[in-house]
Amino acid sequence: MKPLLAATLLLTAVSGAHAATEYTGDRIDGVPVINRLDVDDLEPGKMHRFYLQGADSSIGQHWYIPVMVAKGAKPGKVLGLQTGVHGDEINGTQVVHRLFDRLDPTALSGSVIAVVAANSTGILANSRYYQLQGDSGGGVDFNRIWPGKEKGNAAEQHVWRLFNGVWKGNSDIVVDLHTQSTGTTYPLYIYADYRVAGVKELAELVPADMIKVDTGEPAAAEQAFNDVGMISITLEVGGPKVYQPELIARSLTGIDNMLKHYGLLAGKPGRTAKEQKTFVGNQTLSVKARQGGFAEILVTLGQDVKAGQELAVQRNGFGDITARYTAPEDGRVASIATDPVREPGSLLVRLIRHNPEASCREGC
Ligand SMILES: [Zn+2]
Repeated sequence: MKPLLAATLLLTAVSGAHAATEYTGDRIDGVPVINRLDVDDLEPGKMHRFYLQGADSSIGQHWYIPVMVAKGAKPGKVLGLQTGVHGDEINGTQVVHRLFDRLDPTALSGSVIAVVAANSTGILANSRYYQLQGDSGGGVDFNRIWPGKEKGNAAEQHVWRLFNGVWKGNSDIVVDLHTQSTGTTYPLYIYADYRVAGVKELAELVPADMIKVDTGEPAAAEQAFNDVGMISITLEVGGPKVYQPELIARSLTGIDNMLKHYGLLAGKPGRTAKEQKTFVGNQTLSVKARQGGFAEILVTLGQDVKAGQELAVQRNGFGDITARYTAPEDGRVASIATDPVREPGSLLVRLIRHNPEASCREGC
C-alpha cells in the first residue's frame, strides 16, 4: 500500500471512530436530542445537557435518556458514570446529581459524562427489567444484554444506542452504579475484574465496605466496557428504591478520588479502600430459601460469621419454624434479604470470603 493511501485510510478510520456529536434537530424542554455524543466537539469549560434518543416504544415514540457532560477547560481523561441500568436501583442517581451540583468544568482537565435513568421502562415499572411488550411481553435483565444489538429487540436496541451513542469512543473509565435487587440489600460493594489492567487501581480508589474480585458477568455493562478497553467496575450502592446518604457520600468520595487520581482535578485522593480497610474477597456463597415462607435474618451486613452459625429461620403462616439456615463457611455478610417474604430460591444471606485455592484466585 502506498504511504499516502495508508495515511488517508488511517485518518478516515480515526475520524470514523470518533464521529462528531449527531443532533437529531429535536429539542425537549429546551434540551437538544442526540443520536451520538462526541465529547471532543463540545465547548470546553462548560456544562452540557442532552437527551440521547433511545429505542422506540410500541406506540411509535422514542425513549429519551438524560446525558450530562462536564466538559473540562483542559483536555484529559474522560470519566463516565452510568445509573439506572436496573430500574429499581436508585442511589446512583443522587450520586450523579450531587456530583454535578459541585463540579466546576472550568477547573477540570478532562471531562465527566453521566447517564441517568438508562433503563427508562424499568424505572417506570419499579423493576430491574426492561419491559418488552412483544409476544405477550416480559422483562429482560438490562444488565445481561450489553453491548446490545443495532437491530435487536427494543431492549437490545436501547443498550446499543447507549453503548455506541454515549460511551464507546468517549470514555476512558466507566463506573456502572447499581444497588442490590428489590427485597435485598448490599453495603457499599464493588464487583471488579482484577484481570483487566487498571481495574484493581480503580476499585481501590473507593472507600467501599467490600470488593468482590470477579471474572465478570457475561454481557454485563461492566464487562462490555472492559472488553473494548475502557476500565470499568460495578459499584453497588446499598439497597433499591431509597436514597442512603452515608453510602452516597462514600461513593462521592470514591469518585472525587478518581477525579484526582486520573488528573481531572488537582490534589491527592482522600480516603480510599486502604484507609477504609475494605474487605477484598474472591468468593461469594449465597444461602437461598429452600422453601417458601417468612424469613427472619439473624445477622447484619458486614458481620463476620463462623461456619455452622445460624443465619436465618423461616416460618410458615402459623408461625412454626419450618427451616433453619446456617453458614456453609466462615465469611463476612455481604448481602441480606430485607423483605421477609421469600419463595424457594430467593436470597437470604450472601457471604463473601477469601478462598486461597488457585481455582478461586481471580474470583469464584
Ligand atoms: Zn443492578
